[in-house]
Amino acid sequence: MTLIHELNADIVNKIASGEVIERPAYVVKELMDNALDAGANYIYIELIDGGYDTIMVADNGLGMDHEDMLLSFKAHTTSKIRDSMDLHHVKTHGFRGEALASIASVSEMEIKSRTKEEDTGTLLQIKAGILEKDHKTGMNTGTTISVKHLFYNTPARKRFLKSPSTELRHCIDIIKAYAMAYENVRMVCSHNQKVIMDLPSATKRERLSALLQTTIDNQMVPVHIEEPYVEITGYISKPQYSHHHRKEQYIFVNNRFIKNSIILDSIRKAYGTLLPSTLAPSFILFLTVPYEHVDVNIHPKKDEVTFADNRIIADAVFHAVSNSLKDNNLTFQDVRWQKKSTHTKNLKDQLYVRRSDTDSDLAHILRDSISQKSVPITYPIIQIHETYLITQTPKGLIIIDQHAAHERILYEKLIKTYKSINMKEHITQLQHPIPINLDHSLRLVLDDNLDTLTQEGFTLEISTGSVLLVSFPSLFNHLDIEDYIFEQLASLSGNEIENHNDTIERMITFIACRSAYKAGDTLTQAQCRELIDELNETENSATCPHGRPTTIHFDLKDYNRLFKRS
Ligand code: ADP
Ligand code: MG
Repeated sequence: MTLIHELNADIVNKIASGEVIERPAYVVKELMDNALDAGANYIYIELIDGGYDTIMVADNGLGMDHEDMLLSFKAHTTSKIRDSMDLHHVKTHGFRGEALASIASVSEMEIKSRTKEEDTGTLLQIKAGILEKDHKTGMNTGTTISVKHLFYNTPARKRFLKSPSTELRHCIDIIKAYAMAYENVRMVCSHNQKVIMDLPSATKRERLSALLQTTIDNQMVPVHIEEPYVEITGYISKPQYSHHHRKEQYIFVNNRFIKNSIILDSIRKAYGTLLPSTLAPSFILFLTVPYEHVDVNIHPKKDEVTFADNRIIADAVFHAVSNSLKDNNLTFQDVRWQKKSTHTKNLKDQLYVRRSDTDSDLAHILRDSISQKSVPITYPIIQIHETYLITQTPKGLIIIDQHAAHERILYEKLIKTYKSINMKEHITQLQHPIPINLDHSLRLVLDDNLDTLTQEGFTLEISTGSVLLVSFPSLFNHLDIEDYIFEQLASLSGNEIENHNDTIERMITFIACRSAYKAGDTLTQAQCRELIDELNETENSATCPHGRPTTIHFDLKDYNRLFKRS
């Protein structure tokens, strides 16, 4: 008796769809791919209940005739490639001929389409991959595909989905990425019958400005490099506008939104010591590479690529980013990312004007919270490169990272303060609430996580159109609150660089990081001394709250050996 048998087409499709169609956002992605491949310059996306109920994508592209429509939802049917040679220079988003078949097998699908040569369109109704109805319908040229009750026949898969608002957020994130790549395509998205995104055709800069939280005008700098095998354009954030999350990192290769660790590494290297390892830059980079030098056929989701020569790409990205930082004088000496002239200047100004409760200012709370029992250091301390402090110790010498050390000191003081006083009494009330501008996806995260911010001491008034800051913990008096709220929401949405279990700990780490001396700050002898004394008083003086070392010891014995004294 044979044990092996061929699987029937239905189950093959269901399995195949598992690789690609994990959640509603991937349906949106595949349908947008098809609309763009069909040359549409208008795409309308309608979502109901975060895509659980309906995902509909309508385009004004080329459309399909009746015969093609009947083939389109079958497995391995495509108009985009013919043979394996074509795989070497794929210019379209799709090429596998699997998406519609995969989606159709796990949903109730309707395909409406009309080419410009036809007088009327056709409507197909397909349930679990089986054609149920096929009739004529009046419509404009283009295609509308509607996907209802995704995973209704694969309950196990459905159980892996998150809440409708989380699924909606993933859908929006995908639409945003496509909108960045195709600025001349008008894109409109509605959720539960309400338009939540309406992006007219625009210039690249206008489109990106509409979609990014980091402002292009003063927080980012342009990137441009042209080399024989690659052209790179886009924007990167100035080091002082980095984040604790990686939400605003976009890489496109030939307008395909992809993930690529080689490119990420090169970007990171180009920033080098301009950024502490705990902060991430924002960037949107568009790479144009000859089609035959990119393999797009390495991942079922088509969101990864490999290059014929990784070195060329890595070097080009590195040069593009580092040239842009240099050209804009964002060299080491110029980085004062503590002293940023923030886009929320307006908010800050208002805070300063309204701040009456100076008693609860950070410095004051800190001063009260800790006894000053430091043992003074007698040796001179030298600050080098406005970053490190060097001094003698009885056994040798130490080098201290001024930012890491100060962060550790503030962190421990704040934790003690937090435990010893009732923070509810240290809340700054605003006489006039201040609007906080959040994009759609952060707004959804806020709706799901309002409790967390409330628990931290923020009061936010939420209505359909806006979010108003009413009061906040006084520890934030000197900080950029909007920035914190962005960071916090981005972290909560799963893009966090480090994992903090405790929300209060995360808040305190943020305050410590933003309040501490930075690389580039000149310290007086007295400040250097105080810093080292206070570091000695901390419980975990060896590392900063992110785990980086604060101090490196050099033993005199090692020097003696090096100088051949022993
Ligand atoms: P692929 O995109 O990899 O070819 P799909 O399953 O996504 O595979 O689509 C199958 C075929 O259906 C496409 O090759 C295309 O010819 C046709 N098609 C799908 N969506 C559209 C659309 N929105 N407009 C025009 N043709 C479409
Ligand atoms: Mg496709």
